[in-house]
Amino acid sequence: MHTSPPRSLHASLVGSYRFCPLCGSPALSRERGFLECGACGHRDFNNPVTAVAVFITDESDRVLLIRRAREPGLGKWAPPGGFVDAGETLEHAAIREVIEETSVVPGELHYLGSFPNEYVYQGFSRPVCDVFFRGRVPSQQVRLAPGEASDARWLPATGVDPGSLAFDSMRRAYELFLCATLSA
Ligand SMILES: [Zn+2]
Repeated sequence: MHTSPPRSLHASLVGSYRFCPLCGSPALSRERGFLECGACGHRDFNNPVTAVAVFITDESDRVLLIRRAREPGLGKWAPPGGFVDAGETLEHAAIREVIEETSVVPGELHYLGSFPNEYVYQGFSRPVCDVFFRGRVPSQQVRLAPGEASDARWLPATGVDPGSLAFDSMRRAYELFLCATLSA
């Protein structure tokens, strides 16, 4: 499956470096498709960072979404999730982020799929690989983490407006989630 992200409207962070982050030399080349310092030989391939998110359903077939309290995607809806820390597995990061953001303890995780995304911060873009899981829990009270989300709701799983989701990767993952949910 071809999964190239749409061409970004934002400048690449690594592509915008004016000096080598190791030695400070301005002798940077991008001719070979990656950043290379002519002075010390340092290379940066602009590899993606990894993020995880979980579509969690309850016994009433409702899905838990949070409303994002920060950019990018401020005010849009998203399955709870976040960036993978160094040394973590995808599964551990997914469980940690869901608990941190919502206090809900996700059950057994099932892999849905992954899609490219970008994270735009201070006007610069970093590539991201978004990895999606689904999980199922008994209905639970949600306690929001301040600063992460401004709202959280259990919504009918099949009734989410894809346009209300924060990122294209989430809209594509929601389609996978629907297929998995309807065939379960
Ligand atoms: Zn250098």
